Amino acid sequence: MITLKGAEVSEKIKEQVQDMLKELDGRVPRLAVVRVGERPDDLSYERGAMKKLAAFGLESRSCVFPADISNEEFQREFRKINEDPQITGILVLRPLPKQICGADIENMIAPDKDLDGISPVNIAKVFAGDASGFAPCTAEAVVETLKANDIGISGKRAVIVGRSMVVGKPLAMLLMKENATVTVCHTKTEDLPGTCRDGEILVAAAGRAKMLNRDHAGAGAVVIDVGINVDENGKLCGDVDFESIKEKAAMATPVPGGVGAVTTAVLAKHLAQAALRQKNSH
Ligand code: NDP
Repeated sequence: MITLKGAEVSEKIKEQVQDMLKELDGRVPRLAVVRVGERPDDLSYERGAMKKLAAFGLESRSCVFPADISNEEFQREFRKINEDPQITGILVLRPLPKQICGADIENMIAPDKDLDGISPVNIAKVFAGDASGFAPCTAEAVVETLKANDIGISGKRAVIVGRSMVVGKPLAMLLMKENATVTVCHTKTEDLPGTCRDGEILVAAAGRAKMLNRDHAGAGAVVIDVGINVDENGKLCGDVDFESIKEKAAMATPVPGGVGAVTTAVLAKHLAQAALRQKNSH
């Protein structure tokens, strides 16, 4: 089985970003990472994203607010970031604390700065197959991983495990746009192993440590593991039992070292795209 490494996909995306930067006449795009509180997951994602952006020649800054900030105060602060002409793109680390109305933020964020596709405008564009918006970075990272490895998508049976708005649903739309025949599984799916085995491309986005194994992988399948979990020994792992599928799958992404690295590269690409689109609209 071939291991599909995220770092190699990320390098290819870096080349695209560098080409885009040449068109910006020296103006360096800047990301604002909006974080409320100190959740370890958020901190780790923020560190990874900022490191990747710096490596791609892009700027970022974090805008951090206390975990108990009120909804009104947060909206006031968020509006300032949203309207700041020095900020090219925004990434809101989620989930936000309960007292903050996430839907209001989704509606407030300027669609042309919404790099992770949370605004209803960008979601509608993903569903309409309109590439002028921003898709959620992780969903797009799956498609980028397939394309960078020359894995044909058109006409293939793609099975996605997970139907969240962050990964499963937008990914179904992106794969359909690439002419895959898409099946989306969830907790009520009957015969999950059989349905998964039917996939020539199998994407795991359930958030359950090592839940997919050799029973779920079809012979020769390409398996993309989006999951980020911690196993019984406290080690990072995906939704796929990598060792178990080795005997069935043709290719698979590891965790860590797979889709995660591509997600931050896609974020960087979106930031460069946002800068170009903003430049061209002025
Ligand atoms: P959610 O918890 O929002 O959604 C999980 C989905 O998986 C739901 O649709 C759920 O079904 C389905 N599911 C859960 N358990 C099962 C099961 N036993 N059988 C079938 N379906 C199941 O998760 P997210 O989409 O936000 O994230 C998924 C994973 O991806 C997580 O591990 C997360 O950490 C990771 N992730 C990784 C990123 C990256 O950069 N690599 C970025 C974002 C997320 P139902 O709808 O019926 O409840």
